[in-house]
Amino acid sequence: MTTLSVDEARARLLAGARPLTETGTIQADQALGRVLAAPLTSGIAVPPLDNSAMDGYALRLSDCAEGRWLPVSQRIPAGHIGQPLQAGTAARIFTGAPVPEGTDTVVMQEDCEVDDGRVRVQRAPKTGANIRRAGEDIRVGQTVLTPGDRLTPARLGVAASVGATDLTVYRRLKVAVFFTGDEIVMPGQPLAPGRIYNSNRATLRGLLDQLGCEIVDLGQVPDRLGATVAVLERAAAQADVVITSGGVSVGEEDHVKAALERLGRIDMWQVAMKPGKPLVHGRVGDSDFLGLPGNPVSAFVVFCLFARPFLLARMGAAVAPLKPYTVPAGFDWGKPGKRREFLRGRFEAGQAALYPSQSSGVLTSLAWADGLVDIEAGATVRAGDPVRFLPLSELLA
Ligand code: AMP
Ligand code: MG
Repeated sequence: MTTLSVDEARARLLAGARPLTETGTIQADQALGRVLAAPLTSGIAVPPLDNSAMDGYALRLSDCAEGRWLPVSQRIPAGHIGQPLQAGTAARIFTGAPVPEGTDTVVMQEDCEVDDGRVRVQRAPKTGANIRRAGEDIRVGQTVLTPGDRLTPARLGVAASVGATDLTVYRRLKVAVFFTGDEIVMPGQPLAPGRIYNSNRATLRGLLDQLGCEIVDLGQVPDRLGATVAVLERAAAQADVVITSGGVSVGEEDHVKAALERLGRIDMWQVAMKPGKPLVHGRVGDSDFLGLPGNPVSAFVVFCLFARPFLLARMGAAVAPLKPYTVPAGFDWGKPGKRREFLRGRFEAGQAALYPSQSSGVLTSLAWADGLVDIEAGATVRAGDPVRFLPLSELLA
């Protein structure tokens, strides 16, 4: 089996991820989390007109020399267009209101003295202050969103700011999941001796939901080759990508590989990392296959580092490289490993702390963690040393 580094394995997976081609137009209101498939170009300037950034007085600064009093000639609330500013006067103006023609500056009301319909500037700002210029956010014709952008709340806000009501997006990626293991039982069922509850289903479904995938859940599959082949065939017939948990080790109770060999083709790499087993991927018909380890922590970490970027690329989305932060270690790590380790950690009080148990079966470590501490193979760490920290908020962004 080929041994690959984490980065090599990611690169190979991404190179093989065929982006969806089908697109459609949907209402922007329904587009949260979807992936944009066509550039969004603005037909307007944002803001459309020069406007006031403050509640205050619009004027020409040269009219205010030596504390001159200026008559307040008009009042312009947001949403209303004033008259051209007459020389030697000021306009009462509110945040967001277009500045009247002839204005060069807005003075905030806190810097003005007002008396009997007149205003006097007490503290003059620089010429041009407090005016938001037309087009300072977006120019006419500017491309504001590009294909591959995932539609976050902020991007949907940008789309709305240029007046978009419909957006062209990729169709949703269909992901079939099933869970192997004679020992796993669904919550709600009695727990017979020797059994454990299926936690991977809850975690994986949540991760896929957050990505905006359409989930086809084929449930649990016993550790038998025939059953595994049957469910894999059904999964591949329905979905773009099939993801499973467990059954990919080398024991005789592990049938996923054999099922995959029977129905399609399989690639297996040993990724030099911990936690994580071999990374199993392959193809059945036109569907991609990714096999996650059964251990809940391993499944989660392998999903974050490999499956997720693969799915994003498949969805047509731009995939960001891993962006570790360098932070001081709040722990000693005295056992240099043969593989790169991704430890469950938390950034607190300016340093990375570790969960007391780093066993790949301890899922509470991930519920506690807000990031993974990424330690090179062979490294030892003393408290205070710089370590790489991958926030879960980035890994799941
Ligand atoms: P496997 O990869 O099938 O050898 O499973 C490795 C470990 O993960 C075993 O201890 C399994 O019991 C456990 N495991 C497998 N699937 C699940 C699951 N869906 N939920 C919780 N633990 C699981
Ligand atoms: Mg198993």
